[in-house]
Amino acid sequence: MVVLGIETSCDETGIALYDSEKGLLADALYSQIEMHTEYGGVVPELASRDHIQRVLPLIKEVLDQAGLQREDIEALAYTKGPGLIGALMVGACIGRSLAWAWGVPCVGVHHMEGHLLAPMLEENPPQFPFLALLVSGGHTQLVHVGGIGQYRLLGESVDDAAGEAFDKVAAMLDLGYPGGPKVSRLAEQGTPGRFRFPRPMCDRPGLDFSFSGLKTFTLNTVAKCREERGDFTDQDRADVARAFEEAVVDTLAFKCRRALRETGLKQLVIAGGVSANRRLREGLESMVAKEKATLRYARPEFCTDNGAMIAYAGCQRLLAGQLEPLEVAPQPRWPMEELDAV
Ligand code: ATP
Ligand code: MG
Ligand code: FE
Repeated sequence: MVVLGIETSCDETGIALYDSEKGLLADALYSQIEMHTEYGGVVPELASRDHIQRVLPLIKEVLDQAGLQREDIEALAYTKGPGLIGALMVGACIGRSLAWAWGVPCVGVHHMEGHLLAPMLEENPPQFPFLALLVSGGHTQLVHVGGIGQYRLLGESVDDAAGEAFDKVAAMLDLGYPGGPKVSRLAEQGTPGRFRFPRPMCDRPGLDFSFSGLKTFTLNTVAKCREERGDFTDQDRADVARAFEEAVVDTLAFKCRRALRETGLKQLVIAGGVSANRRLREGLESMVAKEKATLRYARPEFCTDNGAMIAYAGCQRLLAGQLEPLEVAPQPRWPMEELDAV
C-alpha cells in the first residue's frame, strides 16, 4: 500500500510517500525556521498560513521524486494532533479533502506516535515490546511500548520538555532559535568540568523529569560569571553550554537506566528532536552496553518533525483496518495513552 503522509503540527511542512512493500519512496520537508527566527519562536498564525502554501507543491515534489502519479497513492495519513490548532487544521483539511476527491482511505495520526515509530524506518528496527524515551520540543516521556497503540506512560516531565530547555538556554546564550543543535555545537568547544549543573530529580524515586530548574541554574551561572569577571566571553558561553548538555544527558540516561531495570526491557528507543543529539546518543550507548540492552534511533532528519514518520505510522494503522469518518477534527491536546491498539 502506498501512503502519502502529511505533517503540519508545528513549523515544519513534511510530506512523504511510504510503501508497505518497498519502504520509504520519497520524503520532502520545508522548515519555516527562518520565518520565525526574527520573533524568537514559532508564531502560530504565520505557521498556518505558510503550511497552506507549502503542502501541495511538496506533494508534487515527492511524486516526482518517486516517479509516481497521484493515481498511485492508495491512502493518506495526516497529523491529527497534538500541535498548534491552526497548523493541524491545514494538514487535516488538505489530507481529508484529497482523500475524498481521490476516493482513497485516510487516517489521522498522533504526532508522538509518529516520532515513536520513526526508528522503524531504519535498518535493524526495534522489536516490540520496548522502552521509549520521547524527547522533543514539547514532550519528555518514558513509555512502555507493547505494540502499535499500546502505550503505557511510565514517567514524564513535570515542567519543561528537554527540547524546550535546550531552546531556552540557547536564547540565554544568544544563540537564536531553535536552540538544540546550536547549544550542542557550542558545547563541543566547552571545557568539561568547569561548571557542574544539577541532575534534577535523580535523588528521588520515580521516572519523572524536571528541566525548568536547569534553566534557572543556567541563568544564575551566566549572571554570576558576568558579575565576577565583568564579562561573559565566548569560552564562558561554550562552558555553560557544555555543562547544561551534560546535565541533561546524565539525567536522561539515569532515568532510562532505572526504567530498563524496573521493566526488565532490553531495548531502548529514543525519538523526537533531542534524540538527534550526539552526546545523548553516546551517553545512552554506553549506559545500555552496561545494562546488556540495545539502543535504537532514527537518522537525524527523522528525529525532528517529518512526513515519513506520519506516512509510516498511518500505513500501519491503515493496514490494521483503521478507518475514520469524513470529519475534520484535529486534536491540539491528545494524550498518547488514549490511542487504540491495532
Ligand atoms: P513535539 O514533537 O513534542 O510536538 P516539536 O515537534 O516542536 O515538539 P521536534 O520537532 O521533535 O519537536 O524537535 C524539536 C526540538 O528538538 C527543539 O526543541 C530542538 O531544540 C530540539 N533539538 C533538535 N536537534 C537537537 C540536538 N541536536 N540537540 C538537542 N536538541 C535538539
Ligand atoms: Mg519544529
Ligand atoms: Fe515533533
